[in-house]
Amino acid sequence: MSGDKLIAEIDARRDDLVRLTQDLIQIPTLNPPGARYREICAYLDARLTKAGFQTTLIRARDAVGDSERYPRWNLIGRREGGRSGECVHFNSHHDVVAVGQGWSVDPFAGDEQDGRIYGRGACDMKGGLAASVIAAEAFLAVHPDYAGAIEISATADEESGGFGGVAYLAERGYFNPERVQHVIIPEPLNKDRICLGHRGVWWAEIETKGRIAHGSMPFLGDCAVRHMGAVLAEMEKTLFPALAGKKTDMPVVPEGARQSTLNINSIHGGEPVQEADYTGLPSACVPDRCQMVIDRRFLMEESLPEVRAEVIGLLDHLKAVRPGFDYSIRDMHTVIPSMTDRHAPVVETVSRAVTRVLGQGPEYVVSPGTYDQKHIDRIGRLRNCIAYGPGILDLAHQPDEWVGIDDMLDSAKVMALSLAELLTQE
Ligand SMILES: [Zn+2]
Repeated sequence: MSGDKLIAEIDARRDDLVRLTQDLIQIPTLNPPGARYREICAYLDARLTKAGFQTTLIRARDAVGDSERYPRWNLIGRREGGRSGECVHFNSHHDVVAVGQGWSVDPFAGDEQDGRIYGRGACDMKGGLAASVIAAEAFLAVHPDYAGAIEISATADEESGGFGGVAYLAERGYFNPERVQHVIIPEPLNKDRICLGHRGVWWAEIETKGRIAHGSMPFLGDCAVRHMGAVLAEMEKTLFPALAGKKTDMPVVPEGARQSTLNINSIHGGEPVQEADYTGLPSACVPDRCQMVIDRRFLMEESLPEVRAEVIGLLDHLKAVRPGFDYSIRDMHTVIPSMTDRHAPVVETVSRAVTRVLGQGPEYVVSPGTYDQKHIDRIGRLRNCIAYGPGILDLAHQPDEWVGIDDMLDSAKVMALSLAELLTQE
């Protein structure tokens, strides 16, 4: 049966897949600060060059975070087939988040235990990156004469917004639909799920205004923190219930995120927090400024102007009814929701491959938070893009993060079968 040879090729590469994943984990590409990016790109460069890819190392010079000490390096490899055809691109971020507390293993050893590989980035997403490399190598061994092209990229800074990574490359035309037709991002969404996109984001800073005065005579001033308290009370009374009532048709997982949400990221007001070794008392002042950062996640069914108007309406209402209330608001960061059509070619192809490998069709999901698909969609204007990869999403960023070897093999099979369908008509 067609595809059997590919599946056998992947099974034969089990040890290679384990070693590759371990090697990647052993390069601690921590972000922040953005360490060892050049090293991991050089490692992958050697590997892809050996497999016949033309590679390009690209530094995101002057992107947010780029510096001489921590340069933002990215790698793109492209391997042309013998005939013209479409290009399938696998994009993985190579950065990992901070280690944090609570580990029982060395986070950068890549230990193998009971069919799992442990380490920071094992699941998010060096396991997925390794699976895509193995998938491409196995495909090339079975189908040396294919049409079109395969691309594999390892990109910087996804964990901090992707500006020195996919956004930078998209701005330079690397995700132009003329050049690339199908994108698979092997983020850890579980091997039986296809992730079609993500919700939107609006971050803003609200500031309430007051008037400074002596703390023994607060009636002579106006307390900005109390005004912020009124904002919070109004949010509890009207905004949070309204958000809970907005449900989406997007298949967001986990289910709790299938509505609009708002997180209060931080509140600061009054005297600054002093260093731990400061032994003095605060001075007696009425706070004249209080700032709150909000993190609002929104749905396909909502527009950004609507989302902003909802919060501004609440603040204007307070201004009308609460004596002395005044505020300003500043936009910090925006991402529009993205969702690839359920019947887009890459979705249908990967869906058939999942059915073939796992014996049943995939679940279609949408991510509560964003990932690099936003840049491929908004800057690259490439809509035929999904996230599909091994690893359990809940383990991402946790202590004792791991990825299952069988899960990596299964998703590598899905990726290789997808290449076969798109580049050989098999
Ligand atoms: Zn990730």
